[in-house]
Amino acid sequence: MTEEEIGLIEAEEHPLDCYLRKGRIPHIWCPGCSLGSVATMIIEAIRETGIDPKNISVISGIGCTGRTAGYLNFDSFHTTHGRAIPFAIGLGLTDPNRKIIVISGDGDLASIGGNHLIHAARRNADITVICVNNFQYGMTGGQVGPTSYKGQVQTTAPYSNIEEPFNLPELIKACGATYVARWTALDVRRVKESFVEAINHKGFSFVEILGACPTTYGRRNQLREGIAILENFKERAVIEHGIDTEKVAIGKEGPIIVGRFVDIHDKPSLTDNLLSIQRMATASKGKGS
Ligand code: SF4
Repeated sequence: MTEEEIGLIEAEEHPLDCYLRKGRIPHIWCPGCSLGSVATMIIEAIRETGIDPKNISVISGIGCTGRTAGYLNFDSFHTTHGRAIPFAIGLGLTDPNRKIIVISGDGDLASIGGNHLIHAARRNADITVICVNNFQYGMTGGQVGPTSYKGQVQTTAPYSNIEEPFNLPELIKACGATYVARWTALDVRRVKESFVEAINHKGFSFVEILGACPTTYGRRNQLREGIAILENFKERAVIEHGIDTEKVAIGKEGPIIVGRFVDIHDKPSLTDNLLSIQRMATASKGKGS
């Protein structure tokens, strides 16, 4: 038997290897988790935009999804719980030509960091936010989160969750975001296309990805394997571009509406507004002197 046959010779380098921090691998994600696919699609999307990787920053908060920034070989920052967005906005304002991508989970972005999320959308801040929604807090053991639907079973709701979940696209649109989309992690081609659109978008872009967490969500909700969660998405997903986001709430049963819901191009972004104020201030100083 040759060394190659028994696996002693290292496999050839994968074309995406240069986008990973190899010293951080192996990753912590469970078998069947969607986070590997989402991370791959972020890399593929960045490659497709043609943006110099030196001009990309990837920022995340805490949680399983929050690990993504640490694995990607860009200028990346793993911030404290819920604080990825203010960090991202501050960084972006120092260098308006830099593309800022926030990737984090539903608990980190919509609960602990919820205030930052709604105000970033209100300001039309020039950042892309990718929210991987697996309907609960995964890393800490499966507690109910802001997107847990009624009837869902979690460690803190062993008989059934009784609270209404956030409809994230509706929330973000109502706050003023100019790009809002949702896809399931199964649909990798559309996920990538949506990431490209979001990264190229001027102003606040938000993409919700419904992801599989078999470990702390699936096994308590009769979807024990990652593939069972993806099959459930496949059976229920319906594409409705431009639909009124009031109609895209997710429940225990029924359709899961996905698509590009909002895509507005004529609203000034936070950077536009700040540059305009700077011009006014400069002009007024000139008059005064
Ligand atoms: S706990 Fe869930 S979200 Fe976290 S890595 Fe495992 S499968 Fe993924």
